[in-house]
Amino acid sequence: MKILVLNCGSSSVKYQLFRMADESILAKGFVDQIGMDNSVLEHQAAGREKINFKVEMPDHFSAIRAVLETLIDPNYGVVRDLWEIRAVGHRIVHGGPNFSNSVLVDDKVVAELRRIIELAPLHNPAAIMGIEACHKQMPNVPMVVVFDTAFHRGMPPRNYLYGVPYKYYEKYSVRRYGFHGTSHRYVGMRAADMLGKPYEEAKTISCHLGNGASLCAIDGGRVLDTSMGFTPLAGLLMGTRCGDLDPAVVYYLMKKENLDAEGINNLLNKQSGLLGLSGVSNDIRPVTAAALAGNPRAMMAISVFVRQILHYIGAYYLELGGADSIVFTAGIGENSSLIRKKVCSQLAVIGAALDEEANLNACGETVISLPDSKVKIFVIPTNEELVIARDTLEIVYEKNMGLDRFF
Ligand code: AMP
Repeated sequence: MKILVLNCGSSSVKYQLFRMADESILAKGFVDQIGMDNSVLEHQAAGREKINFKVEMPDHFSAIRAVLETLIDPNYGVVRDLWEIRAVGHRIVHGGPNFSNSVLVDDKVVAELRRIIELAPLHNPAAIMGIEACHKQMPNVPMVVVFDTAFHRGMPPRNYLYGVPYKYYEKYSVRRYGFHGTSHRYVGMRAADMLGKPYEEAKTISCHLGNGASLCAIDGGRVLDTSMGFTPLAGLLMGTRCGDLDPAVVYYLMKKENLDAEGINNLLNKQSGLLGLSGVSNDIRPVTAAALAGNPRAMMAISVFVRQILHYIGAYYLELGGADSIVFTAGIGENSSLIRKKVCSQLAVIGAALDEEANLNACGETVISLPDSKVKIFVIPTNEELVIARDTLEIVYEKNMGLDRFF
C-alpha cells in the first residue's frame, strides 16, 4: 500500500510517498514559491538524481497537480497510475480544542478546521487548500489529518491553563496547546526502544531544536508538559521567534515603537530570537561561527538559548519526578554538537553524563551519554512524515476502507 504524505505551507507543499510494507520512501520533494513567478518543484525518486523544474503554479491546486503528475511521470515518476496511491496523510499545525487524535477527513472535519483558522491563520488555510486540491484530483482516495497539537492534548489542566480569567478559556479556547507533537511522539517512542523500556513506562525529555524549537516532558507515552503555548511563539527563543516574554513588554514596545497589532506580531515572530539577539542570522550555523570568532552578541544569543533549554529540562525533570532519557532532535538537536555539549555540560546535577567523543561523532540514532550515566542522552533524527503515514494507514485500515494493508 502506498501513502502520500503532504505538508502544505502558505507558499509551499512538501511531499513524501511511502511504501508501507517496508516503510520505505519511494519519492520525496517539494514545491516552493506557489503563487509567485518563479515556482519550482524539486523531486527525488529513491536511488535516483534529484531534479528541479520550473512550473507555473498560481495556487495549491496546480501545485498538487504538478506533484501528482510528477509521481506518475514515465521518466522520473515512481507509480504507474494514481490509483496506486491508496491514501493521503496531511500534516495540520493546529487542531484547536477538539482534535485529540488523527482523524479521517470528512465534511465535518473540514468545517472544524475552518472554524479554528483564527487559531493558526498562517498555517491552517494552506492545509485546507491542500485537502481540497487532493479531494478534487483524487476524489475516491481517503485522507487523514494529523495534528501537531494532538499529542499534547493529554496534558493536565494545571499545565495548559494560563493565569487569565477562566472565561477566556471557555469563550475563546485560550490555553496552552503545544506544537511539534508528531516529532515529540516519534522520538519519545524511539527513545523507549533505545532504552529497552516499554513506552508506557518511559520518562523522556524531548528537545526538538530546529528553526522552531520546543521541549516536551513525556511520561509513559503521555505529554505532561511542553514549552510552546497557545501559538508556536512561546517557550524557547527560536530562529526568529522571541519565545517566552513578560507580556507587559508587548504593550510597552507597542507604545514606544508606535506599533499596531500586526507590527508587534511581526517583530516577535520574524525579527526576534537568534536573529534579533545576535544580529547575525536566524540560522544557528552562522551564529555559532560568529560566536567562535568572538562576536559578543552571537555569544550572548547562544548563551540565552542554552539557558532556556536548561530551564525547561530542569522544570521537566522535577515535573516527571526524574527522567530516563533526554533526546535531541531536529536541525540543531541532530547536528550541533556544540549546543548539545553546552546543554549537557550542566546536567551532572541530574546524573546525565555526556560522552564527548560520541557527541562529536553522532550520526543518525546515537547514544551520547557515558555508559554509567543515570539519565541517558540520545540523538534521534525526527521523522514526522513516517508518523503521519503510519497514522494514515492505521485509520484507513481501522475504518475498514476495503484496503489490503500490504497492497
Ligand atoms: P529545522 O527547522 O529542523 O530544519 O532546523 C533548522 C536549524 O538547524 C537551523 O538553525 C540550522 O542552522 C540548523 N542546522 C541544520 N544543519 C546543521 C548542521 N549541520 N550543524 C548545525 N546546525 C544545523
